[in-house]
Amino acid sequence: MTSIEILRRLVGFDTVSSKSNLALIDWVRDYLERRGVASELVHNETGTKANLWATIGPDRDGGIVLSGHTDVVPVEGQPWSSDPFTLTERGGKLYGRGTSDMKGFVAVALNAVDRFKATSLDRPVHLAFSYDEEVGCLGVPTLLEAIRLRGIRPAACIVGEPTSMKLVVGQKGILCADAHVRGHECHSSMAPDGVNAVQYAARIIDFIRQETERRYREGPFDERFNPASTTLHVGMVRGGTASNIVPRDCHFTVEIRHLPIDDPHEILQSVENHCRRTLEPEMRAVAPDTGITLSVVSKSPGLATNPEADIAAVVRRITGDNNSFAVAYATEAGHFSEAGISTIICGPGSIAQAHKPDEFIEISQIEAGDRFMQALADALGRKAAA
Ligand SMILES: [Zn+2]
Repeated sequence: MTSIEILRRLVGFDTVSSKSNLALIDWVRDYLERRGVASELVHNETGTKANLWATIGPDRDGGIVLSGHTDVVPVEGQPWSSDPFTLTERGGKLYGRGTSDMKGFVAVALNAVDRFKATSLDRPVHLAFSYDEEVGCLGVPTLLEAIRLRGIRPAACIVGEPTSMKLVVGQKGILCADAHVRGHECHSSMAPDGVNAVQYAARIIDFIRQETERRYREGPFDERFNPASTTLHVGMVRGGTASNIVPRDCHFTVEIRHLPIDDPHEILQSVENHCRRTLEPEMRAVAPDTGITLSVVSKSPGLATNPEADIAAVVRRITGDNNSFAVAYATEAGHFSEAGISTIICGPGSIAQAHKPDEFIEISQIEAGDRFMQALADALGRKAAA
């Protein structure tokens, strides 16, 4: 099979994050089994999804992880020109959901298995295919925990998110939290007797806006990113039941997209401090059963790999491009890095095509991915000979 034939199979599985990815995982497991490579599956709690881990080469420490996620974003409401789950070629491009983000990388990695097998690898090549990346990197932490418990310690990881095969060594991290303001309801004509949850939420939201603007002015800055500072943002608010009732509850979301050097928990703590020290005493002076809770719902660590790290040097040698970049979007790379694995991002396709109707990958990018994998196998083989 060629990479494009593999990609055709992978795109054919509707693995939108809300659905099971098991049909795809079974297909990959069979594909590897036919090549004498055993897979280990790490399921979610309900058994409806799985991460896949497989090792080619010697069973020992070190080596490289090739990491990709198997889930894709939804297609509802998007005007597609052809069926998103049927790979369709038009004008040198392959259309289909997940072609660039990121089944294209999974396809070139699988296509390279025979070559890795034919190379006398000194260190292992691991495949790590996860679920639920697109909904907050929920799958990969359990995979990393499983390999940690098994005592497997890879040295490096290539996360194949679409970078047009450019070397990416930095990304912002994301922390998402839910906020709940519990007020005290009453008739709106008696407003001072109540604690208006929506209005207290508005004060927290304004504090968040000021914090973002302060960082935008004063930093810290990392000029590789645009914007170059950490940003905080509220994307959803829900509160109140009627215009003539002082609302009892208000819920909103807080998203912190932070530079690798910033600690998102510290930033969330500053919001929390404002709630505890300024707002809650006022609220409780009116009604003691009121308060504010902030709870973290998901977290995706940033990435700040040294551009001189071994894995970065290997990728630079293969691509012949000495530049390295940082990206604003989040990937699983931060999780691998946090687990002590030296991690970079490099994969075929462009992020500009991701998550859109008529998502595509250029055939030339699949070919570049194939060449990359061949060169990687050769590089690992040469190491064995040295
Ligand atoms: Zn992705």
